[in-house]
Amino acid sequence: MSKPLKKKIAKKPGLRATPSVAAPVTQKTVRYVYSFSDGKADGNGSMKPLLGGKGAGLHEMTRIGLPVPPGFTITTEVCSYFYANKKQYPSELAAQVAAALAKVEKSVGKKFGDRKNPLLVSVRSGARDSMPGMMDTILNLGMNDEVVEIVAKKTRNPRFAWDSYRRFLQTYGDVVMGVQKKVGEDHDPFETVIDEVKRSANAEKDTDLSANDLKTLVERFKRLIRGRTGRDFPQDPKDQLWGAIGAVFGSWNNDRAIVYRRKYGIPHDWGTAVNVQTMVFGNRGDTSATGVAFTRDPATGEKVFYGEYLINAQGEDVVAGVRTPHPVAQLAEEMPRAHKELLQVRSLLEKHFRDMQDLEFTVEDNKLYILQTRNGKRTGFAAVRIAMDMVAENLITKEEAIRRIPADSLSHLLAPIFDRESVRKATKIATGLAAGPGAASGRLVFSAKEAVELAQKGEKVILARIETSPEDLRGMIAAQGILTARGGVSSHAALVARQMGKVCVCGASALRIDYAAQTLMAGKLTLRQGDYISIDGTAGEVYAGEVKTAASEVVQVLVEKKLNPKQSKVYQEFASLMNWADQVRTLEVRANADLPDQAATAIAFGATGIGLCRTEHMFFEGDRIDPMREMILAETLEERKVALAKLLPLQRGDFVGIFRAMKGLPTTIRFLDPPLHEFLPNTEVQQRDLAKKLNVPFERIEHRVEELREFNPMLGLRGCRLGIAYPEVTEMQARAIFEAVAEVQKSGIKMKPEIMIPLVGFYKEMGLQFEIVHRVAKEVAKEQNVKFKYLVGIMLEIPRAAMVADELAKDAEFFSFGTNDLTQTTLGMSRDDSGGFLPQYQELEILANNPFATIDQQGVGKLMEISRDQARKTRPDIELGICGEHGGDPESVKFCHRIGLNYVSCSPFRIPVARLAAAQAALAEKKVA
Ligand code: ADP
Ligand code: MG
Ligand code: MG
Repeated sequence: MSKPLKKKIAKKPGLRATPSVAAPVTQKTVRYVYSFSDGKADGNGSMKPLLGGKGAGLHEMTRIGLPVPPGFTITTEVCSYFYANKKQYPSELAAQVAAALAKVEKSVGKKFGDRKNPLLVSVRSGARDSMPGMMDTILNLGMNDEVVEIVAKKTRNPRFAWDSYRRFLQTYGDVVMGVQKKVGEDHDPFETVIDEVKRSANAEKDTDLSANDLKTLVERFKRLIRGRTGRDFPQDPKDQLWGAIGAVFGSWNNDRAIVYRRKYGIPHDWGTAVNVQTMVFGNRGDTSATGVAFTRDPATGEKVFYGEYLINAQGEDVVAGVRTPHPVAQLAEEMPRAHKELLQVRSLLEKHFRDMQDLEFTVEDNKLYILQTRNGKRTGFAAVRIAMDMVAENLITKEEAIRRIPADSLSHLLAPIFDRESVRKATKIATGLAAGPGAASGRLVFSAKEAVELAQKGEKVILARIETSPEDLRGMIAAQGILTARGGVSSHAALVARQMGKVCVCGASALRIDYAAQTLMAGKLTLRQGDYISIDGTAGEVYAGEVKTAASEVVQVLVEKKLNPKQSKVYQEFASLMNWADQVRTLEVRANADLPDQAATAIAFGATGIGLCRTEHMFFEGDRIDPMREMILAETLEERKVALAKLLPLQRGDFVGIFRAMKGLPTTIRFLDPPLHEFLPNTEVQQRDLAKKLNVPFERIEHRVEELREFNPMLGLRGCRLGIAYPEVTEMQARAIFEAVAEVQKSGIKMKPEIMIPLVGFYKEMGLQFEIVHRVAKEVAKEQNVKFKYLVGIMLEIPRAAMVADELAKDAEFFSFGTNDLTQTTLGMSRDDSGGFLPQYQELEILANNPFATIDQQGVGKLMEISRDQARKTRPDIELGICGEHGGDPESVKFCHRIGLNYVSCSPFRIPVARLAAAQAALAEKKVA
């Protein structure tokens, strides 16, 4: 909170002790344009908010002496201005752009539209966070009918000149002039023209087209643009430049960019910067190339140089999968000099940025240029491995490793893998690149639309595409796994999968995918839409049918105890990371666990207690549902007591099991919570069966079910209201717990159970329940002649409890925030029914997140803070925790740390995530202090 404030103060000149030394001339005019050229840059790597990630990287790389073609960046502030002012620019912009352009022209000795030395530039988007493929980039700007001839002559390479021109026309026509496929058209209109020209020239690949073919293409493209827009493509490079700048700003609000931002929670008001940069050419023949590389493997995190390139190609060719790129190692043979330089750049970049970099390079006539660098997106596996390796290499500290690994990555490490035995039996139909580790099987679909529709019906789907494009994003989000027949490690599919942690195999070239027939063929085998298919994104393998999954290595070591920790590098990394996290975190992490084996799993994952043990299952399981039903059907107290007496030993046994597993760790037990009708059968056949079994008249059951029917059962007779209506149930539960405590105590385990009353809203309501608990505790202590301690507290899950927390805290020794119900009651939204409108609420940005996944800090969170403050007035040392599903959500865990809770409690498999998030929250606080 205090951060932005500090900045504001620092900016105000009068408040500083030392007078500002900034040049007074620039005081009035805002700087909208930042230049980089010849080893000097106006900006630097820390200026991502203003210059965008790409821009900041270009400025920083220029400063550290890397070969970056000169250019300039127009700031994100211009983008904000653009949208705030009906798509107009600030009045100073034109002059600043002209000056920066002149600087570039001087640096490279070329001029825009010049007869002798024409300058060509690229116009590139670049937001604060990279949004791969979401916005548009225009290459070879400055080309026109005259310039193309000059370039052809100067380079003595007409093919190159015409190829560059046609590429420019193609993107400019699409992005700036809006010539795109119309509704009902299957193909991009430019691609259709290319196909026609290729066919009449008998060319198979783009590179087979001659200079003359490309000339024809240019003519046809110009005609296409005129035909579709009624306007001529602009010949003046300055007009082209402004058109392109406008289009890049405009692309910030295109549909795919908006979808992407929503998915990754990028604020819509950040805006994009525009980078204008001198072109270098990877398409000048066999001594030129373009490529992308990662300084380490972004899928596994292994320390190998990883990437691919294409000879005689430009821009997105590598990514688009037009031709199959070569692995970067091969560059050592094809262009040894450039390869050597590239390796130097790799190590320089890693040392400088101290993180894995994702870079883009171009070789023009054997000379290497670097066009982009950024911290590489990576899978959860890679995030952990890279950070751990970098600590070992002394590149980063342990604390940085903790800060850097997204807490959710750990859930990838725990996700299932294919069962070895089933894999052996399965039919492998293809291999491809292992682009997103993990195992996934599901029904085969061929379009994003199908993927979304089937997933909404609760099916698991695998989306298979020849290659993916940003239009497929929604489908990729809905699918368990992504499979492509074409494309390499830097293809769109691989990129997105890495980022979303999706299982992905790409470039499985043996597969033939036919969208029209909705089939996938591998040799003689044909799979149809809806058939099962399985993909292993760790090994890059594809199987027909459904392959069974097995536990991940970490789970095999910790929970199943089947794998020797020494044999699993993943486990070892996981263990050290958890160890470091535990050293810095202050928030305790408990588990939601109802059964002894769940408790054991939770402890294996590092839980230091149970924050929520629900007792419902103790009534549901096996035959014990019968005495429970007897209890509900009982017409007199005596009858009810008889039934409860049958339940008592069963529950006691359960608690003994749990206490043995917990070995003295804190254990919070919640008393019966769900509405009673959930325990009775609801069809007539079942009711008649039950009548026979319990030897009661059918009518009695029918009548009781009718009696218990409620319009809003979640707001009905449930929670402590049950215990108020049937105090003997509370009594039985209390007795089961204390007798179990007495029993385990005899075998040397000291338990101090925390007894939790659900759905409390009134002081008296709570008091009536506590009274029973205290009385039974005394009775059991006396009967068994043992001493034990326990706590009584409430599950805080309705707003009234928050408002009277000071009163409740007089007797309650702890509060556990039941944020599932607290969210439902605070927002007045039913979790089960919100699926119908929540997506729209997120789309309209009424809500930033799903409030049932991430705590609504302003509303629900505020109630938590009020409860805390109120409660501490009467009981300063009250224990506070959270046991809703939010307890395993990183953002919510951090919030719980900030508001000073003692613990979070979550499901066993989320415990590692919560431990890491808690450590991150502790470090964030340290930084501020
Ligand atoms: P994105 O944000 O989609 O990656 P970029 O602005 O990085 O878009 O541009 C895409 C590709 O275009 C780059 O990877 C690079 O190969 C090519 N490119 C961009 N600017 C230039 C340039 N000045 N010279 C040569 N190639 C360029
Ligand atoms: Mg792009
Ligand atoms: Mg790029």
